[in-house]
Amino acid sequence: MAERPYIVGNWKMNGTRSMLSEARAIDRASQRLMKVEVALAPPFTLLHAVHKEVQQIGVGAQDCHPGEDGAFTGDVSASMVLDAGAKFVILGHSERRQAHGEDDALVKAKATAALNAGLRIILCCGESEEIRDAGEAEQFVIDQLKASMPKISGNVGEVLTVAYEPIWAIGTGRTPTADDIGSMHRAIRALLVELYGEETSAAVRILYGGSVNPGNATELLGADEVGGALVGGASLTAESFLGIVLAA
Ligand code: PGA
Repeated sequence: MAERPYIVGNWKMNGTRSMLSEARAIDRASQRLMKVEVALAPPFTLLHAVHKEVQQIGVGAQDCHPGEDGAFTGDVSASMVLDAGAKFVILGHSERRQAHGEDDALVKAKATAALNAGLRIILCCGESEEIRDAGEAEQFVIDQLKASMPKISGNVGEVLTVAYEPIWAIGTGRTPTADDIGSMHRAIRALLVELYGEETSAAVRILYGGSVNPGNATELLGADEVGGALVGGASLTAESFLGIVLAA
C-alpha cells in the first residue's frame, strides 16, 4: 500500500443536488482520516456545488474535451472544469472508451489538454474478459497505457495516477484475485519505471478499480503495488464509501 493511499469515488452519471449531503458527510469524516487522500468525481453538473461543499477532499471531473474552448456543442474543456473547482480529471475510463468510441489517441489528447490546463489526471486502463481469458491481459494493458500516456515533464508523481480497472469487474461484483491484481500492478509499475525512472515514478499511485466495496476493500487494497481504489457504485453513499476509506 502506498504511503498515503488515494481513494477516489466516481459517481458516473449519478447525482443531483440531493447528493450534496453525501459529499458533505464524506468530507467531514475525511477530515479525521488524514492518512488517506480522499476525492470525489461527481458529474459536471455538480462539480462546482461539491467543490463549494467540501474542505478536505479533492474534487475532479470524469472527462474533458481535448481542445481549447470553442464551438463544441455539449463538450466541456479542461480549463472549464478547472474553473468549476476540479483539481483532476479521470480519463480513459472503459465506459468512455466503449460507449463513446474513445481510442488511445483521443485519451492521450485529452490528458495532454488536462495537464496543460493545470489538472492532475487519473489515467484508466483495463482488459476485457476475452483478453484475460486469452492470457493477454498484461500485454494489452501495457500497450494501452503506453499509447494513452501523455508526455509528462517534471514531477510525474504530482500529476499522474494510474487506475487499473478490468472491464469485467466493473459493476459486476466480480473481482480479480489479489495475486492477479498484484501481478498486473507490478507490470504497470515496471512500465512507469521504464518511462520516468525509478525515483520519479515511485510517487505515482496505481489504483485498483472494479467492484470495490467495504467488504472486499481490505483484501484488494492489500494486493502488491496497490496505492488506492477507484470506486464506482460503492461511492454513492457516504456510508459505503467511508467503509472503503476506513479499510485503507
Ligand atoms: P464499480 O465501478 O466500483 O461500480 O465497479 C468502478 C469504476 O468504474 O470506476
